Amino acid sequence: MANGTLYIVATPIGNLEDMTFRAVRILKEADVIAAEDTRHSRRLLTHFGINGHLTSYFDHNKSLKGEYLLERLREGASVALISDAGTPCISDPGYQLVRDAVAAGIVVVPIPGASATVTALSASGLPTDSFTFAGFLPNRQGKRRERLTQLRDEGRVVIYYEAPHRLPATLADLLEVCGDRQIVVARELTKLFEEFVRGSVTEVLASFAHREVKGEVVLLVAPTAEMPAAVDPDDLLQRYLADPDLSFRDMVSRVAGETGAPRSEIYARALELRDALR
Ligand code: SAM
Repeated sequence: MANGTLYIVATPIGNLEDMTFRAVRILKEADVIAAEDTRHSRRLLTHFGINGHLTSYFDHNKSLKGEYLLERLREGASVALISDAGTPCISDPGYQLVRDAVAAGIVVVPIPGASATVTALSASGLPTDSFTFAGFLPNRQGKRRERLTQLRDEGRVVIYYEAPHRLPATLADLLEVCGDRQIVVARELTKLFEEFVRGSVTEVLASFAHREVKGEVVLLVAPTAEMPAAVDPDDLLQRYLADPDLSFRDMVSRVAGETGAPRSEIYARALELRDALR
């Protein structure tokens, strides 16, 4: 018997009007719909009058369930994979299933639609010609800073997914590690309270200082080249070192803020210049 086809079907990231005609047809025709959370997806499917056979496929059952789905595909069944929102496999389960299906000679067909990454980038106002998608940052601060450091010198816009309650801490780490870059926080995309907060890290932090970050967020970080007019840190440091009213700590913060350079770098350079001037 001929193999079936595996469809990777994108679903909306908020606004149900973003469901495509093709996605609805493929899901109606599929023998099996594999979903991250069947209860969540049942609501979406019901909305579009889709009554297919739904089964779960998520991070903790993906090995076992992957085997079952591959078996069904080998028997000739068509399988449609969906995630809770957006495009499956993009920071969502699915990659192993696609990899194994490809290895087994099964045809894999993408059904494109919404993805938070491209949706955020398209309206960010940041350069779109090439970008780096970095997924979720680690939860632990040490690892998070490590990852930010690895991507500090990336010459393209870097896009992260982030949980709303972690955003302020992540922005503080970003300021420390990468300096006061231009960033965009794209919140609640395609939903009622959709919002783009654009500016330097300091400005965006100020915008969230007196309100809780709610909903889903994408964080886009511009490369250093997108910083406004470059200022030479040495010029500023020499001027501020001569100011007896400015503490060393405040001077470092001010220069890091004005130049967008990482605080640690400014701190080290300030020590060198101070010693040289003694
Ligand atoms: N596969 C999905 C896609 O294609 O966009 C992403 C799934 S990932 C588990 C979920 C993350 O995507 C959220 O934590 C958030 O960072 C981002 N996200 C999803 N929907 C969003 C929305 N409507 N507005 C802003 N960010 C969103």
